[in-house]
Amino acid sequence: MQRRTLLTGTALGVAGAALGLTRPAEAGAELVAVLGVTVIDASGGARRGQTVLVQGQRILDAGPARRVAVPQGATIIDGVGKFLIPGLADMHTHAVGIDDTDPELYVLNGVTTTRQMSGGPLARSWQQQIAAGARLGPQWSIGSRIIDGSPSLWDGLDGDGSVHLAVANPAEARAAVRQEHAAGAEFIKTYTRLTRDSFLAVAAECRRLGLPFLGHVPDFVQLTEASDRGLRTVEHLFEVWYDTSSEEDRLRAAVAAVPVGSGEYNGWFNRMHPIEYAAARTYDRRKADKVFRRVARNGTYFTPTLVLHETNDQPERIDRHDPRHRYFSADMIGYWDWALDNLYLPGRTPAQVVQSKELFRRRLALTADLAAAGVPLLAGTDLGTTYLMPGFSLHDELHQLVRAGLEPLQALGAATLNPARYLGRRDAGVITRGAVADLVLLDADPLHDIRNTTRINSVFVRGELINPARRHRMLAELEARAQQPKPPAAAPVVFRGCPC
Ligand SMILES: [Zn+2]
Repeated sequence: MQRRTLLTGTALGVAGAALGLTRPAEAGAELVAVLGVTVIDASGGARRGQTVLVQGQRILDAGPARRVAVPQGATIIDGVGKFLIPGLADMHTHAVGIDDTDPELYVLNGVTTTRQMSGGPLARSWQQQIAAGARLGPQWSIGSRIIDGSPSLWDGLDGDGSVHLAVANPAEARAAVRQEHAAGAEFIKTYTRLTRDSFLAVAAECRRLGLPFLGHVPDFVQLTEASDRGLRTVEHLFEVWYDTSSEEDRLRAAVAAVPVGSGEYNGWFNRMHPIEYAAARTYDRRKADKVFRRVARNGTYFTPTLVLHETNDQPERIDRHDPRHRYFSADMIGYWDWALDNLYLPGRTPAQVVQSKELFRRRLALTADLAAAGVPLLAGTDLGTTYLMPGFSLHDELHQLVRAGLEPLQALGAATLNPARYLGRRDAGVITRGAVADLVLLDADPLHDIRNTTRINSVFVRGELINPARRHRMLAELEARAQQPKPPAAAPVVFRGCPC
């Protein structure tokens, strides 16, 4: 990942409020009725001719028109020819304060839930502004800082240590878990260079505190062992190649022998690449199936973050002129382009281009194998990576999941029902009576073509309606804001290739 320095994030703090993106006063318990709509959720599939009533933050009722009466005085939305899906979740984000417009861009794109993977004050300040009604945005599940081994790949890269904690032994690992728990983390994020002993200490301390732990499987731990110990979610398709390789022992020895210095992300990533490629090429489907069934039995989720991998594996395919870039400042786009020209593209040989293209194709196939073995998948982007865009990129991830071989309804489930289950929410990710009114009304059928999730007509954010007029107004405002000149930012600290 090319990460913008995390120092910029807090400085951008509360700028959104000054630019007219604030919410209007609470409209009270207005009742909205969507009539004649096709309801689609991952628990019930598609149901045509439905009436959905929204009042306050909840779905008052949802069902066939003949059963659900429309109360007098309801605001009517004609849903004939339209499709209503639950609000989407991006389950792997980093609040890096791209332009301090992430919260609004998420919900305008129908993303009403996010999971913040590296703690941090910026996500907390957004969460507070949203909870106070000062801004419209998703609900955030905010984890700990990244807990890595020592030396850490992150040493020095996050300046003040706002993103990571390096632990040298099990005692430090337990202390780090307690510290992050006390600071309000909803879960603990484990990282690549934790020793096995420290990782087991994190697992034990989390179990004692009743705190989920998830993230990267460290280089020194098998995926199956991590899953057996209770790892809730595996982020990215990266370490998974070793447990599923017919050459596991040899390649694990190679991984363990990779030298790592403090903050030496680039070097580590470059030295890991050929080992990862060798592991992917020796992927053993029968072995993988056993591993995946065990992981599924343990209830461990996978977040493939295919859009992150596509960016890393196929930088040649990045579109510098994506029309969606109009919602981002020239400063941000300039930084992305700089990273592409200076970090991603230089030195790539034709052979490497071919190899990494093959690697990405293998990641798609592996995603299909995970799903076929019953491993629950979460849709997540790794926002914070160069060229990934709040909200927009989640739709790209859904498209990649379908490219990988999932049915469109399975892909939708990875962004709706599965995140709700992971979060322990029975009242989310479904369109039923009493569920939270996070909803996206689409002008075209996402089961016909998953790319139709971008054909957004309206969004309900915990009951608050963003109708087409309001949505277009807000998008225009964000676009105008992105064009305003900004004071020059501090030189970014960057490194390449991180799934983080
Ligand atoms: Zn990440």
